[in-house]
Parts: sequence; structure tokens; C-alpha cells
Amino acid sequence: VDRNRGETEFHQAVREVLESLGPVLAKHPEYADHKIIERICEPERQIVFRVPWEDDRGEVQINRGFRIEFNSALGPYKGGLRFHPSVYQGIVKFLGFEQVFKNALTGLPIGGGKGGADFDPKGRSEREVMRFCQSYMTELHRHIGEYTDVPAGDAGVGGREVGYLFGQYKRICNRYESGVLTGKELAYGGARVRTEATGYGCAFFVHEMLAARGESFEGKRVVVSGSGNVAIYTMEKVHQFGGTVVACSDSDGYLYDEQGIDVELVKQLKEVERERISAYAQRSGGRFLPGRRVWEVPCEVAMPSATQNEINGTDAAMLVRNGCVAVGEGANMPCTPEAVRDFQEAGVAFGPGKAANAGGVATSALEMQQNASRDSWSFEFSENRLEEIMKDVHARCHDTAAEYGMPGNYVAGANIAGFTRVADAMLGLGLI
Ligand code: NDP
Repeated sequence: VDRNRGETEFHQAVREVLESLGPVLAKHPEYADHKIIERICEPERQIVFRVPWEDDRGEVQINRGFRIEFNSALGPYKGGLRFHPSVYQGIVKFLGFEQVFKNALTGLPIGGGKGGADFDPKGRSEREVMRFCQSYMTELHRHIGEYTDVPAGDAGVGGREVGYLFGQYKRICNRYESGVLTGKELAYGGARVRTEATGYGCAFFVHEMLAARGESFEGKRVVVSGSGNVAIYTMEKVHQFGGTVVACSDSDGYLYDEQGIDVELVKQLKEVERERISAYAQRSGGRFLPGRRVWEVPCEVAMPSATQNEINGTDAAMLVRNGCVAVGEGANMPCTPEAVRDFQEAGVAFGPGKAANAGGVATSALEMQQNASRDSWSFEFSENRLEEIMKDVHARCHDTAAEYGMPGNYVAGANIAGFTRVADAMLGLGLI
């Protein structure tokens, strides 16, 4: 704890994993003998750097950039970049730590890492965003590569930003290394379904959890938080599964539409016009409720897809009281430890982020495969691969939880299955 002073989110993420590992260490004393826990909690490398850039008024701005290369036992570091004013070491480390186990759960050959900057893209012009991305990559390029570290997008970093980052990498390195970044646009080496992958994947995961209880999305009211990349494609797939998403949100409040959120309109507002969802009500039915929390909306399924710690114990209690039976974490660590406990005690099917939102990084690994073989798969083929992977992730969590005597506990299942895969690779690789 001393070594990571003040990094509260990192402490929270580590505690959550370690709490699950007692039975594993009892069964596998070799992990303790080789100090796997101590090693796995320490990032292999942490890079912190200055990002100077000039805004549209000609004023110099300074941000702080990060890349945490957490664990490469299974493959090159892999994980997104987040641009948000709240970004600091503790956030990037929690995200990187989670990423190690998430990536292991996919069964694909990828290590874990995460990065970002305390840059706020909100209200910035296209040219400012480009200048920032170029400056960020001017430092980052020396640390990444197809076989070393492969960043992608995360909150605040979408296809546009990945494009500017890739353009600058290509320019500095004089190398068309498609596999160095994922989440690229189709025109320059991107993969179909990557944009949709995290949201679709989360819906597939919840579909599997419901099916394991003999239920489905059919006829259920669903509440999704956020209105960014993960939220939009979660809503789209939930509607395809026959559920009705009645609310979504942003940091200003939430949008309620009893008829079901019109996802095409949200896409138009957010992806094309770069507008806020408060504009939805002027163009269609529905009401925008400023300053209110979306978890007050009654639903059977909740899919938090905005940010960390957005569902606390009070929110969880309200959701349970209102009849919520399943929760799928589209975001990373959106539920506080109290909320997770409340859901589990109430018998809610709870899918933790490192399992439920693994579809994004899994499809990134498929993008790397396509880049390596100079191939480009169809939408249908890619979506089928994603669905298969999410079914496998669900089965791995479900079966591991049962094997360790905690049936239905997807938190324990995900932590144990992810941990053992990384730990076994670390044992095999010697003292690294
Ligand atoms: P985006 O930046 O596209 O969207 C984030 C959304 O969350 C925005 O609508 C934002 O609203 C909203 N939001 C942020 N903070 C709050 C808040 N405090 N209260 C309410 N709404 C809030 O990010 P993504 O959709 O890419 O990522 C969302 C989450 O999913 C993150 O936790 C991310 O780590 C995780 N994730 C993303 C993956 C991906 O492939 N993109 C993969 C796996 C996980 P506003 O505009 O007002 O800030």
C-alpha cells in the first residue's frame, strides 16, 4: 500500500482480485512459493511523460501522459488509452491491472497494459484534438510496437483519435505497422465489429448469464448508463435480443424513453454531430432529466457503461428493490465493492467488467490477427467470432466458480480463471 500511496482505485481493483484468490493459493502453493501475487501486482514498466501542445488561441498547454505496461507473460501489452481530466497514475494502474486478467480470460495471446492522459477533449476543436494526439504520440512511439505494446481506444479515444495517433506513429517511424494500434478505421487497417465489440460483447455475456437461469432479454426493461461507444452498442444489441432500453445517460443527467431509446438517433447525435443526449428530446419522444441518476429508473437489467464507481450501495439497493435481476458491467469497475456485495447477496446475476466487457479487447486481438495476415474479415464472420469468444468467457467464469465451490459467482470465476492463466505462464517463464 505504501508504495502506491493515494492510488485508491488501484487499491480497490487489487483488493477485489486478491479477495477471490484464497482457495487458489491453498490448491496451488507453488504460486506463493514463487511470489506470483507480489510480482503480478507490480507493473513491469510505468511511463509518465509531458505532453505539450498549442491550443487554437496559440496558447501553450501542458498535459501529463501515461502508459502502464503491466504484464506481458501472455503476449504484447494490450489495452486502451483514456483521455479524461480525471486520469492519474491510480486510474491507469487500476485499468492496467484489470486488463491483465480480462485479456487472459479471452484465451487470446495478449498481455495487459493501459494508458492515457489528463486531457479533456470536451469542447476542443478537431485541430486541437489532432495536435494533442500528435504530441502524445511523439513520446509514446518509442515505447510501443506490434510485438511490444499495442494501445487502443478507451473513454475519450475513439476512431478519430486512433487515426491521428496512428498517422503520427507512421510519420515518425516511417513504417506502416498496422498492428501497432487497434480500433483503427476500416480505411487504414481497422477491423469490422471493433466499434461495436465491447457493447455487443457485454450484451452477449448478459444473454448467457440470463440463459444459465432459464431467462432471456425478451420483454425486459434495461437501463444503460453513459452514451458513448460502449453504451451505444450495448443498446443496439439489447434491442436485437428483444429487450427494451428505457434509459441512458451522460454526466449531465439521463434520458428516459419508455418506448425504447432510438439508438439510431443517439448515434447521429453522438457519433456524427458530436452533440449531447439532451438534444434527443427536441427531436423525438423521451425526456431528459438533468442532474438525476439513471439508477432510479425501474428495470430488470442494468448495464453500467460509463465510468468507475458509478453504482454505489444506495444505487444497488434501489435497483434490487425495483426488481433488477441481472447486471452486466460494460464499463471498468462501475460498481463499488458495497454494490457488488449487495447484488450478490440479493441473488442478482452479476457479470464483472473483466469478463462482461472483454469483447472489445478480444476483437482488438482479432484486428491484430487480420493485420498480421493482411486480411479483412466480413462483419458476419467477425461478429460470430466475438459471440463465440464471449460464450467461452462466460463458460470459463461459470465453470471455474462451480469448480471452486462458488456456483453463480462470476466475480470469483473471472478472477480465478484469469489469474491462473497468467500465473502459470509466469511460472513457466522463470523469474521475470
Ligand atoms: P466514451 O468516452 O465513448 O463514453 C463515456 C460515456 O460515459 C459518455 O457518455 C460520458 O458522458 C459518460 N460518463 C462519463 N463519466 C460519467 C459520469 N460520472 N456519470 C455519467 N456518465 C458519465 O467511453 P467508452 O464508452 O469507450 O467507455 C466507457 C467505459 O467502458 C469506461 O469505463 C471504459 O474503460 C470501458 N471500456 C471501454 C471499452 C471500449 O472498447 N471502448 C472496452 C472495455 C471497457 P460525458 O460525455 O458527459 O462525459
